[in-house]
Amino acid sequence: HMPTAELQALDAAHHMHPFTSNEALANKGARVITRADGVYLTDSDGNRILDGMAGLWCVNIGYGRTEMADAAARQMKELPYYNTFFMTTHVPAIALAQEVAKLAPADMNQIFFASSGSEANDTNIRLVRTYWAQKGKPGKSHIISRKNAYHGSSVGSGSLGGMTYMHEQGGMPIPGIHHINQPDWWSEGGDMTPEEFGVACAKELEAKILELGEDKVAAFIAEPVQGAGGVIVPPETYWPEIQRICDEYEILLIADEVICGFGRLGAWFGSEVMGIKPHIMTIAKGLSSGYQPIGGSIVCDEVAEVIGQTEFNHGYTYSGHPVAAAVALENLRIMQEENLIEHVRTAAAPALKAGLETLADHPLVGEVSIKGMMASLALTPHKDSRAKFASERGTIGTICRDRAFANNLVMRHVGDRMVVSPPLIIQQEDIDALVERAGKALDEAYSEVKS
Ligand code: PLP
Repeated sequence: HMPTAELQALDAAHHMHPFTSNEALANKGARVITRADGVYLTDSDGNRILDGMAGLWCVNIGYGRTEMADAAARQMKELPYYNTFFMTTHVPAIALAQEVAKLAPADMNQIFFASSGSEANDTNIRLVRTYWAQKGKPGKSHIISRKNAYHGSSVGSGSLGGMTYMHEQGGMPIPGIHHINQPDWWSEGGDMTPEEFGVACAKELEAKILELGEDKVAAFIAEPVQGAGGVIVPPETYWPEIQRICDEYEILLIADEVICGFGRLGAWFGSEVMGIKPHIMTIAKGLSSGYQPIGGSIVCDEVAEVIGQTEFNHGYTYSGHPVAAAVALENLRIMQEENLIEHVRTAAAPALKAGLETLADHPLVGEVSIKGMMASLALTPHKDSRAKFASERGTIGTICRDRAFANNLVMRHVGDRMVVSPPLIIQQEDIDALVERAGKALDEAYSEVKS
């Protein structure tokens, strides 16, 4: 390929990147990733970089699996495309829907396919509104979500999201979407115990329902463990109280499993781990380990039956795309054949926890937040005080992220939290390397902010 500098110049000239300024691309040049295998990326200069983020929290089975390429090629030769509109279907969509239903909780047996988490969450807005309209309650249409949540980038899913800097572009959130606080005890818990704070945050849902009127609220959406918001593991009291409130006020519960699903928390779905009984689950990312764009909404029997009484006027050209479905099916086969969930539960997650906890004493680290294979380190200028850096959004995080990358480790930063979420196949040796490189990045960032 061309020299890196030339690729970077062309990239900056012609390619608009998500969540990136073209000025930054022009000044600094994006890293050009050329290939990958296992848990390692290779860049255009030949560096081997440990991918502590599994891409964007998605490459659960690791890179370079030729079985996945074979599944795609087979399907492309046989039936590269057909749709699932207007009374047609095809074998890969049928097989994947059946397999997902088998893995989902017993009362969740229908899936509506999309190509991404954003599309699936847009689907969810329409699913819950259609459900209540069918039940004779069209006014029950408002949806409550959480501040700082990420549910996607389309106008609908971005409105469900609670990242205000995404709303600043205007027109968002769309009407009928509301946000309550996230259960981030470390940052916002004040003098409360985590248990008290968990209940207090959940009670915000009740207060919002009462403010809007329970006959107006269709659904509550949340991730079992908030991912892109910084890996916010809720206090143990949080989900039981949320569940009680949803049951009491007849609010549909949507669990966004885009990150938590397919093994990341050590079970097929994060809802199992956090003790949640959702009506709808959003899935994407780990469904295909990112090898093909595919997502969907898994719908419980009761909701599916009500919606099934009418035409659900919604769908995407690529809903249930045969190649994406065949690849996702192969991904699920590999995960089962290799007992990947068991590997997470018994080996990878305990090792990651033990490793990251050795960084808890670092002068920059205030909290190690971890559940399964998603973790974050909250950085603070005054250890033990839970204080925040009084800097621009993400400055210390940016320094740390860049230091990690210079040490051949991909970590992501969310404000002042450093996040890791590696491929689930990761073994002890690479977890050790991840922790060592993260420690070095912290040391270097500490020297920089101290001076
Ligand atoms: N929901 C959650 C929890 C996510 O983390 C993401 C993406 O990061 C999405 C939805 C959106 O998924 P996609 O980027 O596939 O549209």
